[in-house]
Amino acid sequence: MKMLEKYHKEILTCTGCAFCKKACQIYFHSRKETDSPKGRIMISYGLLTGELKEDDSIVEALQKCALCKLCESVCPSMIKITDIIKAACHDLPLLPEHEKLINEIETWNEPIEGKRLFIINSKDESLAEIAKKIKATVWHGGCAAAIERIGRRNEMVGRLVERIKEAGIEKIIYYEPDCKKYFEGLNARNIIEFIESVDCDEKCAIHIPYDYDDEFKEKVKKLFEGKDVIYIHECCGGRIEFKRAFFKEAKKMAEDVIKKSNGRKLVTASMECYEHLKKYGNVIDLLHLARFKD
Ligand code: SF4
Ligand code: SF4
Repeated sequence: MKMLEKYHKEILTCTGCAFCKKACQIYFHSRKETDSPKGRIMISYGLLTGELKEDDSIVEALQKCALCKLCESVCPSMIKITDIIKAACHDLPLLPEHEKLINEIETWNEPIEGKRLFIINSKDESLAEIAKKIKATVWHGGCAAAIERIGRRNEMVGRLVERIKEAGIEKIIYYEPDCKKYFEGLNARNIIEFIESVDCDEKCAIHIPYDYDDEFKEKVKKLFEGKDVIYIHECCGGRIEFKRAFFKEAKKMAEDVIKKSNGRKLVTASMECYEHLKKYGNVIDLLHLARFKD
């Protein structure tokens, strides 16, 4: 439990108050202690002390976390619950679904060309089409952040950056805020910065995952200033590694988000969420409403 050892002190600060349980949609649906944030902290403690031995059920309980960070928003001890869960997962074997997914991501091969590259993690053609509006070519393989979320080192992104440099790409455009840290030092911008305005005359519910950084959230909110919108920050279970391994839970979470939109037009500010939510209801991606700067 090498990686988890770093969090030993932090794990001990958990008072067991259980406030975090109320914030967790996975626990809300299953009511199983091991599906709660507190339960995952207890499991991590057990693994550290040797009171628990790793087995499939433990791997599953820890990976069955959508990393939404809603539990962290209510934890009075300010425990970095998701960092602890990721560290525990790092030290444990992979689920078969995750092994397959990492293999798919790492072997993704697609030509990299042009001057501007739009990094997307979706096969949805309507999103790829947006690249034309910002005069970019597309890389459909994303930044492989899912590998890190599963608890493994993201080596794929290093190879991607090398290929980007070799191809002479002058500007990288990404969307999911998770990608930002991988392209530091390069000329990389979030696509939100290219949006001039959004066409939105109806009542909308804007979905922005809670764990997205504040800068991104603020930029999205600025686009909708003065419009009749509500915001939903709940997790829809759409992250690829989560829905691949926990399809049923991901479906329930998507249905919850759709219900919360309360009849308003649902607009999500995440490609991964769009790909997931559109299977269960009417949803569009924020980029579908965007008018881009010249
Ligand atoms: S809210 Fe924080 S301190 Fe309380 S049980 Fe959850 S992780 Fe532990
Ligand atoms: S990060 Fe989200 S899914 Fe994971 S334990 Fe916390 S509230 Fe539950």
